[in-house]
Amino acid sequence: MKTETIAIHGGNAVTDSLKPVIQPITLSSTFEHQEESMLYGRLENPNRKSLERVMAALEKGLDAAAFASGNAAANAVFQALPAGFHIIAPDDMYHGLKSLLETVYKGKLKIDFINLTDPALVEKAITADTRLLWIESPSNPLLKISDINRLSGIAHARGLTVLVDNTFASPIFQQPLLEGADMVMHSNTKYIGGHSDIIGGILITGEINDFWKGIKTVQKLAGAVPSPFDTYFLTRSIKTLAYRMQAHAANAGTIARFLVQHPSVETVYYPGLETHSGHAVARSQMKGFGGMLSFVIKGNARAADRFIEELRYFTNATSLGGVESLIERRSRIQGVSKGIPEQLIRMSVGLENVNDLLEDLEKGLQILQ
Ligand SMILES: *Cc1c(COP(=O)(O)O)cnc(C)c1O
Repeated sequence: MKTETIAIHGGNAVTDSLKPVIQPITLSSTFEHQEESMLYGRLENPNRKSLERVMAALEKGLDAAAFASGNAAANAVFQALPAGFHIIAPDDMYHGLKSLLETVYKGKLKIDFINLTDPALVEKAITADTRLLWIESPSNPLLKISDINRLSGIAHARGLTVLVDNTFASPIFQQPLLEGADMVMHSNTKYIGGHSDIIGGILITGEINDFWKGIKTVQKLAGAVPSPFDTYFLTRSIKTLAYRMQAHAANAGTIARFLVQHPSVETVYYPGLETHSGHAVARSQMKGFGGMLSFVIKGNARAADRFIEELRYFTNATSLGGVESLIERRSRIQGVSKGIPEQLIRMSVGLENVNDLLEDLEKGLQILQ
């Protein structure tokens, strides 16, 4: 099956004798004892299984484990590592996960946050205790691109597991397991759900090994599992994922090119632009450049806020991946950090008609002149 077909048929397991076309939601928390049946809702559920099956197929993996949020999925990876071991993570890691490592895992795991766009720095950071290399590409909010294949080679030579947070790209544009990574993580809250109404996360593995078995044990015993409703709606959303991603990327590409030539815009960060520092690597490992972009206006944070207030179709809100366009001045959310100007604006480009979006931006930018 090709991608679009997997997305539609890969998560639809109908066992009902009435033969509904769509797999029903199984809400039951427990199952009647039989030879081969499910046992209990925290351990397994038919809708969760279907979500895991379709996501494993889209990422070309062997198995998947779904969680109640992206952070819960990542947390299961950290919990499955023995205490005292060392992790290498990106210096611009998703801020919620960076906070998780810096607070909950303080004193339990050793962590180095490194600029992963420089593979030599990663090589230098690996110690005898390092077990995991965490990659996020494209990253947030500068859309930095890390070379998954090259970093996987370096990590594997030293016996590390490589995991890629693939949330920004989705499996439609990037399949990290095919680039040499061992595991993939998604915040299902973003493009997978696609309609800004579900919180969820998932891990996918290319190999069933002891580390993976440990993660599945955390899923079942720690129990941060998604509800049958959430997993049902996620498999429903995935049916249109390929088409949504193509449209997100087409709109984002058009807006990036519009912003680049605009006199009130200083810099645009979008991996599809030839001027982006990660463009060549992005071309080699991605089939599309995604729907996320950031830009810096000429002016200060106050001017950026005024511009955002002018917009009609871009809601001033955090998060990404929904059908509606969102925009925010990023430092309001993650504070001012190194290399991220306070007037940097991040945009999740939605599926509205791109001409409406361009007109809206043009009008908004006029107040800066
Ligand atoms: C949102 C996000 C997460 C966390 O996912 P939640 O579903 O909010 O817990 C992790 N990584 C990236 C890149 C994200 O955008």
